Amino acid sequence: MKSKVILLPCDSYREDLVYENLKKGLALLGGLKTMLSEEEKILLKPNLLKKAEVEKAVITHPAVVAAFGRILREEGYQNVILADSCGTGNTVKVIRGTGMDTALEKLGIPAVDFTEGVHVDYPEGIQAKEFIIPRELLESDCVISLSKMKTHALERITGAVKNSYGFIFGMNKAMGHTRYPSADSFARMLVDLNKYVKPRLYIMDGIMAMEGNGPGSGDPVPMNMMLMSTDPVALDSVFCSLVHLKPQMVPTNYHGEKMGLGVWREEDLELYTPDGRITLEEAVKRYGNPSFHVDRRPVRHGIWEKMAKALNIFQKKPYIEKDLCIRCGVCVNSCPVPGKAVDFKNGKNQPPVYDYKKCIRCFCCQEMCPKKAIKVK
Ligand code: SF4
Ligand code: SF4
Repeated sequence: MKSKVILLPCDSYREDLVYENLKKGLALLGGLKTMLSEEEKILLKPNLLKKAEVEKAVITHPAVVAAFGRILREEGYQNVILADSCGTGNTVKVIRGTGMDTALEKLGIPAVDFTEGVHVDYPEGIQAKEFIIPRELLESDCVISLSKMKTHALERITGAVKNSYGFIFGMNKAMGHTRYPSADSFARMLVDLNKYVKPRLYIMDGIMAMEGNGPGSGDPVPMNMMLMSTDPVALDSVFCSLVHLKPQMVPTNYHGEKMGLGVWREEDLELYTPDGRITLEEAVKRYGNPSFHVDRRPVRHGIWEKMAKALNIFQKKPYIEKDLCIRCGVCVNSCPVPGKAVDFKNGKNQPPVYDYKKCIRCFCCQEMCPKKAIKVK
């Protein structure tokens, strides 16, 4: 069976428009009742990376969350909560003042902070055989992923598969980067995590996406769409095609297919809009953005590349634009490497300094910098 992906053209966050489009998308997937039963306890998982103005496209837009919450309520789902393991802060703090807080309050959907990490074994995992996940996730019956369409320094893009990293509890997220330091091992762990949690539905907010220095410091760019699927690899691969990035160049797609999470090949997909079936080629022509700023450079596998990697030279690396740095120390606190690979070596009156010998290139510092001061070269 082919994986179905729904592309919903939508050029504004007007709530009625988002609501109508989500309803059409759900109908094309067979309706919510085919995915969720009314008695189930549902956990909504948006991307709540960190506190930032909604216009900066860092988090899933409140209008998307609100419209989906409304549909759940109208269809009789009573037991719904919303939560994320945020990069910095917690659910309640990150959504405060964004409009998501008031919308959820109106709908009677509580936003909760994860309170405790629980160790779970996953012997079937290929890369990861255990996780520390929030108790609130274990107590839920099912999850709906509400991701944001963004670029990512390590994995090129962050979308449906990567959104599930918010199911790792608190600081264990940062530590995960030391355990799975390469883009490939990290992607394989994410695939295992998705297979363990098994979100029932993946929705991506790409009405205003983020390009460039994502996922926290990039630039908003209108992609004017939402995507929806039960297959996160298929969904992410359509996102890739629409921004002219080969899907197989994204490790979560490549490994996601190999490990049986989903499919990225065009011949294994069925793409629909509310007007009916559409070929990927036609969709790219009509809705794609060839100038979307994303890393399209191929990964080389020759002997020189292997040596360069072993010697830690000619690798992507973060650096600080001194003029933008306010010396807040968020990057230092975000670094998961013992002894810190970025630190205030010259005192707190100077920007932190990198130790590239220690740096594992997880880019947590770049993700978390509140001033867009950290770039990748
Ligand atoms: S997080 Fe950004 S602004 Fe803060 S110290 Fe690091 S580089 Fe400077
Ligand atoms: S310095 Fe930045 S990229 Fe390097 S290990 Fe620390 S957080 Fe990761």
